[in-house]
Amino acid sequence: MKKSNILEWLKETKEQKLNELWSEANHVRKKNVGQDVHLRGLLEISNYCSRNCWYCGLRAERKDLTRYRMREDEILQCVEKLSKFKYGTIVIQSGEDQLITSRSIIRVISWIRANTDLAITLSLGEQSRETLKTWKQAGADRYLLRIETTNQKLLEKIHPGFPYGTRMDCIHRIKDIGYEVGSGIMIGIPGQTYEMLEKDIIWFQDMDLDMIGVGPYIPHPDTPLYNGEIIENNVIGSELMTNKVIALARILCPQANIPSTTALATINTQSGRETALSRGANVVMPNVTPVKYRQYYDIYPSKACIHETAEICHTCIKNRIIKTGRTIGTGKGSRNRKL
Ligand code: SAM
Ligand code: SF4
Repeated sequence: MKKSNILEWLKETKEQKLNELWSEANHVRKKNVGQDVHLRGLLEISNYCSRNCWYCGLRAERKDLTRYRMREDEILQCVEKLSKFKYGTIVIQSGEDQLITSRSIIRVISWIRANTDLAITLSLGEQSRETLKTWKQAGADRYLLRIETTNQKLLEKIHPGFPYGTRMDCIHRIKDIGYEVGSGIMIGIPGQTYEMLEKDIIWFQDMDLDMIGVGPYIPHPDTPLYNGEIIENNVIGSELMTNKVIALARILCPQANIPSTTALATINTQSGRETALSRGANVVMPNVTPVKYRQYYDIYPSKACIHETAEICHTCIKNRIIKTGRTIGTGKGSRNRKL
């Protein structure tokens, strides 16, 4: 795969030609990360957010959303459940909640470290070097912070008041501190062109990302971007386009862990997860958030799996993976640089 071919693939429409891309991505996936699909339990610990991203239903200015913040004992109960399911990783995610203290996160990390073999992934937004270091020292392994788009003008438009450089610096800081680094983008943001996507994919490779999360942008009616201007040459936030980015990311970053995201399962409930697994993805993130909170983690509408319990999601996802002929990964499923 030459970098100069990326744009051509992004614009390719012929099914027969695209089959070559899917087949190459699947081959590279098999050779580098094998047949295992790693399960990462996703726990959404708070939907409070101090920021106002133009695309997200958790934004601070949204006043009609019921807000929740899980207590530490509730979090630990979910951790125990997830351990019983034999997931190798917990992903702790939230809005940028100013009232979750760094100490509370340290207590949770320390408890998980002392009582389980789980890898700990954090996805708690942009944080200072000091905070990120403290969490790493407490035992966190990985950090996810999507760049969303590497185009400065577009990113600053959808993140009002937050400079591009600050987010980019934070991703570099995560890497310097020694976390496994996850980042990624949304596909189909109003104002996002094919050329921008091409640069995003090259950036994944230049950053040597350990985890790459890409999902379609799903418009939320209670956000300013809902009626965002679609420009000429705007990328469509379709399943097909997302799968193209997953396949290209797999070919250019062969060892990365790449999830088949919930957003894909949302736009195609029947087979969104499975299709991405056959086009380069090797990770699924079953939701383990208590059902009473799930509906309030309303980042986009009609989110998949909001009424199912952790047990139902666990059985459903496991069965879906086994039906594809793949195996369920055991252990932490960290990026393996040796293979
Ligand atoms: N607050 C943290 C952050 O922004 O990094 C973590 C939580 S945030 C809800 C996780 C991800 O949700 C974002 O990185 C973004 O890509 C995704 N997201 C938010 N709104 C979305 C939308 N309308 N469509 C698709 N993905 C969305
Ligand atoms: Fe908050 Fe993250 Fe949503 Fe932005 S994307 S509003 S930081 S939860």
